[in-house]
Amino acid sequence: DELISQIAAGEVVERPASVVRELVDNALDAGARQITVRLAAGGVRAILVEDDGGGIAAAELPLALRRHATSKIDTLQDLEQVGTMGFRGEALAAIGSIAELSITSRTPDDGHALRIDARTGEISPAARAVGTTVEVRELFFATPARRKFLKTDATELAHCLEAVRRHALARPAVGFAVWHEGRLVEQWRPTTLEQRLRDVLGLDFMAASREVLAQVGPLVVRGRVGLPEAARARADLQYAYVNGRHVRDRLVAHGVRSAYEDVLHGSRQPSYVLFIDITPERVDVNVHPTKIEVRFRDSREVHQAVRRAVEGALALSRT
Ligand code: ADP
Ligand code: MG
Repeated sequence: DELISQIAAGEVVERPASVVRELVDNALDAGARQITVRLAAGGVRAILVEDDGGGIAAAELPLALRRHATSKIDTLQDLEQVGTMGFRGEALAAIGSIAELSITSRTPDDGHALRIDARTGEISPAARAVGTTVEVRELFFATPARRKFLKTDATELAHCLEAVRRHALARPAVGFAVWHEGRLVEQWRPTTLEQRLRDVLGLDFMAASREVLAQVGPLVVRGRVGLPEAARARADLQYAYVNGRHVRDRLVAHGVRSAYEDVLHGSRQPSYVLFIDITPERVDVNVHPTKIEVRFRDSREVHQAVRRAVEGALALSRT
């Protein structure tokens, strides 16, 4: 069983940033308004994620660490329309099998917090306000081969920051802070979407991009798309979200590129941040353990919607 969970962990956790992503997902699912990430040595030594969400009840604490235990869906039907970031009940169990893991949590009904140590299962009283702190130390300590694949602390930190940035773009009402080795390295205060895009992507991108906002059939596509001068500034600025979940999707990328070619006749790499909202029944998020890939029921429909929406934004900008 130990081996099976380590193999499963390999699918979920590639590097510290994968842990950050899963823990921030959980904090968001718990309704957090403020999420603080504290890292040491690029996250390899330590990752702490603190939230002010609803916390975990004492009776549920051991369950949170168990494989395939999730509090978020009950039935197969729920899986057809997942509204939370998590639903597989895999992340904490996976992380606990490849790192030292503890959870400290307190619900509004509790007089004090409780801490559970994943290795021993021991539960002890602790101090903190309502919410949850998940602490992960010495990632891949038991699998040195894996640890060797990690890059420098600076590179791992950059990946962790990118993981938080992806969440921050989609959740402007939530405040985020990232600390590294005791220093505040990034902070985004709760705000509007417009202001959050400015805070995260920078004024240069805002000035060299146009708003995208279109309803095409049952889909809503909104966000911003960069003009060619923005593409030169940051070619890696390509963010796509489906129902608030960050995804890597070739269909979306291709839809944007088609619009670029149609309107600007350029073959440059487009820059964009696009939020696609679609009825949950029309998209399957349970395709991959990391949930970064999705499968659309009608891929043509999505491609067309993205293409039209981006074409609209680019065409307007030329007048
Ligand atoms: P999943 O998110 O797919 O349900 P996880 O392994 O990530 O699975 O988490 C297991 C469970 O632990 C969650 O279903 C949730 O009940 C609980 N949990 C984890 N993190 C938090 C948190 N920050 N706040 C409240 N509950 C949490
Ligand atoms: Mg989760």
